[in-house]
Amino acid sequence: MTVNLLDLDAAGLTDFFAHLGEKPFRARQVLRWLHRSGEGDFAQMTDVAKSMREKLATLACVVPPTLVSDKLSDDGTRKFLFDVGSGNAVETVFIPEDNRGTLCISTQAGCALDCAFCSTGKQGFNRNLTVAEIIGQLWQANKALGFDPKNERIISNVVLMGMGEPLANVDNVITALRLMLDDNAYGLSRRRVTLSTSGLVPAMDRLAEECPVALAVSLHAPNDQLRDRLVPINRKYPLAELMAACRRYLEAAPRDFVTFEYVMLDGVNDHDGDARELLRLTRDVPCKFNLIPFNPFPNSGFLCSKPERIRRFAEILMGAGIVTTTRKTRGDDIDAACGQLAGQVKDRSLRTLRAIPVVARAL
Ligand code: SAH
Ligand code: SF4
Repeated sequence: MTVNLLDLDAAGLTDFFAHLGEKPFRARQVLRWLHRSGEGDFAQMTDVAKSMREKLATLACVVPPTLVSDKLSDDGTRKFLFDVGSGNAVETVFIPEDNRGTLCISTQAGCALDCAFCSTGKQGFNRNLTVAEIIGQLWQANKALGFDPKNERIISNVVLMGMGEPLANVDNVITALRLMLDDNAYGLSRRRVTLSTSGLVPAMDRLAEECPVALAVSLHAPNDQLRDRLVPINRKYPLAELMAACRRYLEAAPRDFVTFEYVMLDGVNDHDGDARELLRLTRDVPCKFNLIPFNPFPNSGFLCSKPERIRRFAEILMGAGIVTTTRKTRGDDIDAACGQLAGQVKDRSLRTLRAIPVVARAL
């Protein structure tokens, strides 16, 4: 079995070379070839001894996920589709802005958490992505977008907000994050890498301890009764526990606030009273709010709040001194907007069974 070197961070590569009797500097060299130069061919790694390059060719490989499509939106947003085997595909979105370029990457094929308003969730869960498949999205996007002559990356920010729940795949996500932050790999600052979670409390603590990056939490409701319905993982980690976890996270975080994401659902969670309840809920958590207009998908059963409603909701939060932004919908003409990422997932969860009427199941 050959080792896919894209699965390894600096510590993993150091171990790999130690087993071959090589010093740590060799790991550093290869790490730079792989991630700073985007080189996947050992023969081109010219400062590595020829005998070592030949050895690597027999023991190791460099296999990113295969790019199967690349679509450009009218607004410049670009959506990549990657094949991750067994009929599954995941999506990665590049969002260029004046002062930065953000790459939104996926961490799972599908998602098991089944939030009521999310098209990824509606597809069910197939599997966790490997480290090579997570970091490989960045590797491939860098190649597709091109490097600038000074070797500065066009991608200045990464958000883990694509398909899947990153903290449900926390081991692989932490290794991939370490590569993003490593100066010999992508060299991104912790403040420019944001992980979004629906609130897996124990894994939030692990992230704080092992690899703190900027944190976004998908709140979407001001009380347990509504959140239980919209974000079912709330039944396991209710709001009081989630708020306490946010406070603990901030002790280690590179930023001094948590971003609460809040999808605006017409008539469901967008009343003035909901905004006021949010203020009480988050009183002790330094935070910003990011309101996300709901992006529709077929048979979702939800509508997006009216622009005037979103404006009023934001006003109430801002009136209490909380920085509140409303996310611009980008790339919706190519289904690249939040919650529209569907990729292609072969569901192997029991969700399809659950949908079968009780009578049929009893037969
Ligand atoms: N699983 C993680 C990260 C991926 S989703 C999480 O839930 O946080 C990224 C963001 O898009 C989350 O805030 C999610 O709730 C939101 N989202 C999901 N479906 C959406 C939709 N249809 N319209 C707008 N935002 C959506
Ligand atoms: Fe999963 Fe996030 Fe979608 Fe919820 S919103 S189903 S956690 S991807």
